[in-house]
Amino acid sequence: MSAKSRVLCTLDWDAPGKRWGYLRVPHSSDRSAYGWIGIPVGVLKGGEGPTVALVGGVHGDEYEGPVALFELFRELAPETLRGRLILLPMANTPAVLAGTRCSPVDRGNLNRLFVGDPGLDHEPTKAIAHWIEEELLPLCDALLDLHSGGRTLLYVPSALARTGPEDPRRAAKLAALEAFGAPVSYLVAAAGNETGLLAAADRKGVLALGTELGGAGTLTPATLALARRGIAGFLAHLGVIETRAAAPSATRLLEVRPEHHLWAPRRGLFAPAVLEGTEVEAGQTAGRLFDPEEPEREPLELRFPVAGFVVCRRPMPLVERGDCLFQLGADLGG
Ligand SMILES: [Zn+2]
Repeated sequence: MSAKSRVLCTLDWDAPGKRWGYLRVPHSSDRSAYGWIGIPVGVLKGGEGPTVALVGGVHGDEYEGPVALFELFRELAPETLRGRLILLPMANTPAVLAGTRCSPVDRGNLNRLFVGDPGLDHEPTKAIAHWIEEELLPLCDALLDLHSGGRTLLYVPSALARTGPEDPRRAAKLAALEAFGAPVSYLVAAAGNETGLLAAADRKGVLALGTELGGAGTLTPATLALARRGIAGFLAHLGVIETRAAAPSATRLLEVRPEHHLWAPRRGLFAPAVLEGTEVEAGQTAGRLFDPEEPEREPLELRFPVAGFVVCRRPMPLVERGDCLFQLGADLGG
């Protein structure tokens, strides 16, 4: 979509200093004929240097991004920056305020709607995606998209990059993952994965990483601390802030492929046999699936299809056919 965004941004991107403003996303509804949804956006402008977008709340039940970015805005003095930061801590604000992955307004999953659509008042999530891709990304040199597992997944704290052998930014992404310094870093394929924010960043030539910092709809001191450290490492790597005092911790580099997922084959109560952060063998028991409607039925034993490291699992036992139970990763080149 090349049409102009109808989202109005109230911020001056270029004035020195720091300030908050709003994106006004048009939303005409029963209760507000000429209404708009306000998406908070912050800018911190220092000296000459790159522009970096820090994004949280693309999914509304993932909390490290919003809180870390609220903190960062308060703590950073813009005159110490070599460059400019654009903060979008609650990219899908209606979803964050509802505590849900998707928007309660239009059921939109912001990370499945790029390139978006500029013109539909009843689909504000597409309008947000379109604004990010067509208005925000062209301002940026780099982007960090802070996710967590949401209510239905729990991750070993990870950072990730979307890349493939043809990717001209592959080496730059690997270096940025090291600078972020999460316990685990993993690569996901670029091919066949076009509707997320990382794909949008690739289309616009912006160096971008994502994260999966925790999940299960929680926020912990450890995952928030990792968000802070990782953001600082990323910004220092890009030269926007002074090199941080502590060296980044070593990260384990993995690859997550389609065969690394285990899905529930039917409805039931799933009792996992392993937790995230463990090594598993191909054929090892992943857990047992009980049929709550026929307790006399033998539970179904589910096995891992391949060997790997358990990157994330579903923390909620109640499952339906098609729910992702586990995601594995394999050491890169292994
Ligand atoms: Zn997410």
